[in-house]
Amino acid sequence: MSAVPPPEANPDVLIVGAGPVGLTAAAELTRHGARVRIVDKRTGPVTYSQAAAVHVRMQEILGAMGIVDGWLAAGHRFERLSVRAFGKKLGVMHPGGVDSPYPGPLVIGQNVTERLLVEHLARLGVQVEREVEAVAYTQYADNVRVTLRSSTEGGRKEAVRAPWVLACEGSSSPGREAAGIPFDGARYTGQEFVQADVRVHWTFPNGDAYSFINKERTLLLLPFNALGRYRVLCARTEQSNAQHGPPTLEEMQTITREMTGDPGLRLSDPLWLNRFRTQHRLARRFREGRIFLAGDAGHVHVPIGGQGMNYGIQDAFNLAWKLAAVVRGDARPEPLLDSYNTERHRVDADLLNSTDEGFRAMVNPGAWKSLAMRLVGPMALGSETIQERVKNLLSGTKIHYHGSPLAEDHGGSAGPAAGERAPDAPVVDLAARETVRLFNLLYPTGRWTLLLFGGLEPTESACWKLAGTGASVLTDFGRLVNAHFVLTDLELAASIEGGSVLLDREHTAHDKYGVKTACIYLVRPDGYVGFRGGPDHGGELLAYLYRIGLLKTADAHVPPR
Ligand SMILES: Cc1cc2nc3c(=O)[nH]c(=O)nc-3n(C[C@H](O)[C@H](O)[C@H](O)COP(=O)(O)OP(=O)(O)OC[C@H]3O[C@@H](n4cnc5c(N)ncnc54)[C@H](O)[C@@H]3O)c2cc1C
Repeated sequence: MSAVPPPEANPDVLIVGAGPVGLTAAAELTRHGARVRIVDKRTGPVTYSQAAAVHVRMQEILGAMGIVDGWLAAGHRFERLSVRAFGKKLGVMHPGGVDSPYPGPLVIGQNVTERLLVEHLARLGVQVEREVEAVAYTQYADNVRVTLRSSTEGGRKEAVRAPWVLACEGSSSPGREAAGIPFDGARYTGQEFVQADVRVHWTFPNGDAYSFINKERTLLLLPFNALGRYRVLCARTEQSNAQHGPPTLEEMQTITREMTGDPGLRLSDPLWLNRFRTQHRLARRFREGRIFLAGDAGHVHVPIGGQGMNYGIQDAFNLAWKLAAVVRGDARPEPLLDSYNTERHRVDADLLNSTDEGFRAMVNPGAWKSLAMRLVGPMALGSETIQERVKNLLSGTKIHYHGSPLAEDHGGSAGPAAGERAPDAPVVDLAARETVRLFNLLYPTGRWTLLLFGGLEPTESACWKLAGTGASVLTDFGRLVNAHFVLTDLELAASIEGGSVLLDREHTAHDKYGVKTACIYLVRPDGYVGFRGGPDHGGELLAYLYRIGLLKTADAHVPPR
């Protein structure tokens, strides 16, 4: 048995809560060079499947963390969601085909997700401190004092001081309360969910997802595999007050038979039966001084679309590299840290609004909406534009941070603007003489990436300007930035001396980035475009790097370890 490493004596960041969001934050902060402690009051990961949908952007994040293979091996990728309403087949949604190395959603239990994250964290040398509850938080000018109570050591208390605290304790978040951040919103009344993780024996093909809608109820069947194991979830107007505990298997079977119209349908082998009501709430802000909120501590909503964990993990991924850069002494705290709230609060608020609207329409569609669904539904599902819109919404790949202090855009291409996700593409790394994916250059190093596109018909003067820009950025920020030329012409590529050169012979990268003439892209460590401009914007690029608080190589202060 390997020895359990002791907790970090002086953590840069104390993470409270080891759900999927806290675990991701701990792993990413560690990867980016911060010292963390992570505590959880539970004895271990959840034992049931709760957050089962893992969408494309979350898979990309797991890919960036270097651990997505575990999810790809254990998850089920479904290609079709068949939609039926009022006894009629409306059509089929195709959630796959997203422009990503991970083209569609996976279904996998939260118990597996948490286990895989815990194992990853242990490999990074960080152990979750279990049965340890944070019971008090006091914020000072330069640290936060958190009282931890261990339930295994007779209630022993320990006071920890950390410069930064990340509250990932779920919706009841004591960290949020201590920080005095209101949690605006309300509980839904008059509606409830019942669900079961079961084997379904029926006449429909296994492995696809299904949704059945009628006036009072919506039933969703989400496949864990192609052998008939499903999450069966029903949203409905609340039943008699007498029903409080989990539904019985028979109750779920009756609902599923009625909704599918399959009288011989049978459910068996239940792993989890659950009845719950839900709420929609958003923290007024995700930061108060040295306390940050991420995941359900900041936002909770109806689990339609299966996005809570996905968005929470994006919160953690957005914050980790920024906070780590500050604690490493590579960046000033502002505007980097405040950009977390600016960027994620709007995105999470949008999710709350869309799920709220969807849920109200689902549970109580009203006469007009029902009629519209019946009449227009088949046409809508047959429309490529609508399919594309839903796919983008679910995948998370179109989430953007326009208007962020970290997004500076000078145009120069028809592709992603500053604040948008940088796309993947295959290119040939000339030095290594092998084909690599841009994602494999953007993510694993934890650095910023400067892509200097030569354009489809590169001119000598543009190339000189790009080379000058690359050299100045590396002189001032070489510790934090990797730079690559991206060139379509082999001869030109081979003539470049010094610096990394990526050959884009088929123009795939140029096309994905919408580049025709020379263009500069600076991509952040989390894969979003920070800066875009033409070859004449080298000065603006340097000014941008200073403006956002990155410290010039010589000024960077690395705190002693
Ligand atoms: C039925 C259902 C289905 C869902 N399906 C999906 C889905 O398909 N896809 C999706 O993305 N999302 C889904 N969600 C939402 C998802 O489960 C949550 O968004 C996700 O679990 C949030 O993760 P978290 O880490 O922020 O919080 P949590 O998972 O709630 O974890 C918080 C952790 O903090 C710990 N903690 C709390 N207080 C303290 C304290 N004071 N001290 C120490 N530890 C503490 C808790 O023990 C817990 O381990 C679903 C939710 C439900 C209810």
